[in-house]
Amino acid sequence: MTEFPEATADRPSLLAVFAHPDDESLACGGLLAWCAALGVRTSLLCLTHGEHGGHTGVSSLAAVRARELREAAAVLGISDVTLLAHQDGMLPWTDATRLESDIRHAVARADADVVITFDEDGLYWHPDHVAVHERTTAAVLSGSGRRPALYYVTLPTGSMRSVVEHAATLAAVQDPTGAPPTHILGIADPDAFGSCAPAPTLVVDTGNFARQKLLALHCHRSQLPKQDALTLVTTATAPRLLGIEHYRRAGTGPMPDTFLDRLASCPDQQTPPDSWSPVS
Ligand SMILES: [Zn+2]
Repeated sequence: MTEFPEATADRPSLLAVFAHPDDESLACGGLLAWCAALGVRTSLLCLTHGEHGGHTGVSSLAAVRARELREAAAVLGISDVTLLAHQDGMLPWTDATRLESDIRHAVARADADVVITFDEDGLYWHPDHVAVHERTTAAVLSGSGRRPALYYVTLPTGSMRSVVEHAATLAAVQDPTGAPPTHILGIADPDAFGSCAPAPTLVVDTGNFARQKLLALHCHRSQLPKQDALTLVTTATAPRLLGIEHYRRAGTGPMPDTFLDRLASCPDQQTPPDSWSPVS
């Protein structure tokens, strides 16, 4: 576990809250890398080690996934990672008060201006993801200090279908007799991702950081068996297949623009906006 460092007030701060190692890379790896490159202090709270999510028969999977998460976080420029040990697969049944307390603590320690977590569809209705959406929303709304802006991330409808089709085309060339890849991080139905996602309020083209997103995804080796379609995405195709990210601003009170809104309106921007004014 990594402790949060004390926050410094001169740069905006973003905290991502997810359930398992790999969620951060798949859901919002491009935006996290972009923000880090611009000098935003980026932190990640991951609530479980994903110890039940292996597909490779790895023993000590929790330790393996913790290492993979640290590698992915380094690729994305996430400066602070807190990995908690709540039980994988049990977050809907984990004490809500305890989860919300952990999340509130992370928000306060990061002095977060912006918090990102799953939307209500949990990317593909994963129960742990849906629970993190609910607990993070409750934690942000019940916090006693300055309330950060809350954004929910979804996957664009059809995006993972495109990845699988691309991979199948490549695989057919490489091995015409082989079985085409069908899975995305262990999920057999690519259409489950984003199938009922609420409409985004913020569409961000993170194509310039899609290479980092892909490299971060590939750090999660225990989740990427050979037949996983993501293994056939290349740095050349990543911007098209993984570059567009969808976010929805939660209605948590007054909603002045944040640095994320300004980022989305400047897709080619590689330097910080003139003003990093935090949300009120
Ligand atoms: Zn997950």
